[in-house]
Parts: sequence; structure tokens; C-alpha cells
Amino acid sequence: MINNLSITSVAVDGDLPGHPFHGNQHMMGEAAVKHPTEGSRARNMERVKAIVAAEAKRQGFPAHLIKVLPGEAKFSVNGKNFKAAGLFHHATGTVSIYADAITDHNKMQIKDIVSHEIGHAIFQKEIVGQAHAGSSFAKHMANKEVLEKNDGVTSYSRSYWKGLKAGTNTYNAALHETFAEVHALHSTNPKEFDRAVKPAWKEFYADVMKASKVGVK
Ligand SMILES: [Zn+2]
Repeated sequence: MINNLSITSVAVDGDLPGHPFHGNQHMMGEAAVKHPTEGSRARNMERVKAIVAAEAKRQGFPAHLIKVLPGEAKFSVNGKNFKAAGLFHHATGTVSIYADAITDHNKMQIKDIVSHEIGHAIFQKEIVGQAHAGSSFAKHMANKEVLEKNDGVTSYSRSYWKGLKAGTNTYNAALHETFAEVHALHSTNPKEFDRAVKPAWKEFYADVMKASKVGVK
């Protein structure tokens, strides 16, 4: 799962108190998906689609690469179960957003989820896709110990650094998820970005975003 997909998540068996959105979204999402009517699901789908399209446009990310779908997906990281609200497909560079997993009515939470997935798309295109040996990113990528010591910026991305130590996910997955969380913070909560993101990750992110056509500058 980690090899092919990167995931925006909602904790099922635990909260994510370090993240400003995921925890709440879980609580509200669980309550709302229990007995949704067809009408309320359709209205929610339209609302999610509109917010996702607006956020993609704001960041200059091609809207046709994002599909808003019904349903939800479950997965686990480092032994902890999550419900997926979004997936990034590495092979195609496309994003799936699961409308039934995000039935709360907070615009910021939907923006956070789609921004996280756009962050994966940027990382995949600019770093994994280009294999920037000798580029300005190489110095950041060579900093494995520093990146690891400063680990994730939210409890969600930190769980991948714990997973790396436990051998349940790869270094690439930890980098990918942390970058996606950095991008989501930068896009939706600049104050928290300034407060929570360590200098090593800020510098890495800034260099990548200079090369990327996507993102709010
Ligand atoms: Zn992710």
C-alpha cells in the first residue's frame, strides 16, 4: 500500500492531536457517515467537489488529475488503523478524494486533505520523478540524519518515522508523508507552518517549491 499509494487519513482507533484538522474530521466524519441519506450524500459530494476544484485552481494544480469519489478506504500505519479520505496514485500522478469520509462541513478540513495529496504530487514530480542527483535538492536528501532527527511535522507524519524505526514502512514513505504534511500546513495554515516546521524541512520545502509550478507562492 505504501509503495503504490500515499494517503491522507483519519485515525480510527486513535486521535491525532498534533494535527489541527485530522482529529476533528474523524469525529465529525464518523458521526455523519452512520446514517447518511442518498440526498445528503449527493449534496456532500457536490460540496466536496466544489471546494476541491477551487483549492486545485488556487494552487495551480490541474483539476482533471483529482477525482472525487463516493466511499472511503481503510489502511494501517505502524499497527494503527486509519480511514483514508484521500489517496495519491504514484503511477498516474492522480488524486482520489473520498467524499463519504469527509462529510463534515468545514472547508479547511477538505482543503487540508486535498493540499496533502497535492503535496504528494509535487514530491513525486519534482523529487522522485526527476531523480535530482546533483541538483539543489541533493543536499537536502543527503541530510538523512537531520531530516530524521527533525522527523514529521504532525503526529500523522511522525507515525511514519516511528514506522521507519519499526521497519513497517520505507524512508521514502516517511519523506513523502512529511513533505505532504508540510505542503498542507503551508497551504492551509501558514501560522502553524511557521511554528511547527523545523528549519531543515522549511529549507527543503522552499527549494522544491521554487522548482514547482504548483502551489501558492
Ligand atoms: Zn499522505
